[in-house]
Amino acid sequence: MADNSGPKVPGCKVVLVGESAVGKTCIISRFISGAFDSNVSSTNGASYASKNVQYDKLGKNLLLDVWDTAGQEKYRALTKFFYKDAKVAILVYDITRYDTFKSIKEFWYEQVKENGPKNIVIGIAGNKCDLYEKEEVNENEAREFAASIGAIFALTSAQNNSGINELFRDVGNKYLDPNFQQQLQIENEEKNPEGKNTNIVLDKKEEKKPEKKKKSFC
Ligand code: GDP
Ligand code: MG
Repeated sequence: MADNSGPKVPGCKVVLVGESAVGKTCIISRFISGAFDSNVSSTNGASYASKNVQYDKLGKNLLLDVWDTAGQEKYRALTKFFYKDAKVAILVYDITRYDTFKSIKEFWYEQVKENGPKNIVIGIAGNKCDLYEKEEVNENEAREFAASIGAIFALTSAQNNSGINELFRDVGNKYLDPNFQQQLQIENEEKNPEGKNTNIVLDKKEEKKPEKKKKSFC
């Protein structure tokens, strides 16, 4: 039986942000369904998809709700609602376009800090690493930036299916890390002296239901 002693969070919300056409939708599609569609033009309709993932830490499953934009990033018009209650934010840039890296540093990271919860886990994905011959973003520079903000870094290719599972594994492990959870708990208690814990993520019911929920991209 699931422990019903506290409010349940239905899953771990993960948001992907970054400039248009860096490959956010394709990364999500790869992660959720294992498919890559090179004919994706743009994303219509806000959507999220869920995947139940077995994590090394605690040997438990975590239901990831991965949120995709509806193309509003083109107008830099993502609302606060998009970031609300997100546990993980993945900043995606395209390794062949320096401007997309610059904008995660100067804009998307700031957006996450401004609109997301204080203690959000941040990941950075240098996507399209299959196109390394056209690389404009030096990997070391990107790694240094990631280290400077305490983010997890990965080079990914939605086309070749490389680095994506590792990235989701690493951010999930960080989120599940008992030290990190303890930190969240302390912050919650400070914010919420009534003792309501909003960081319980594991629900036995969800563990038995690993199905994808909704998918409308790629
Ligand atoms: P979004 O606007 O950030 O959601 O980007 P999309 O997922 O729609 O992808 C934009 C374009 O980049 C599409 O034409 C994809 O086929 C292409 N693309 C996405 N990921 C990769 C990748 O890893 N490698 C290559 N070569 N192309 C990719
Ligand atoms: Mg998209």
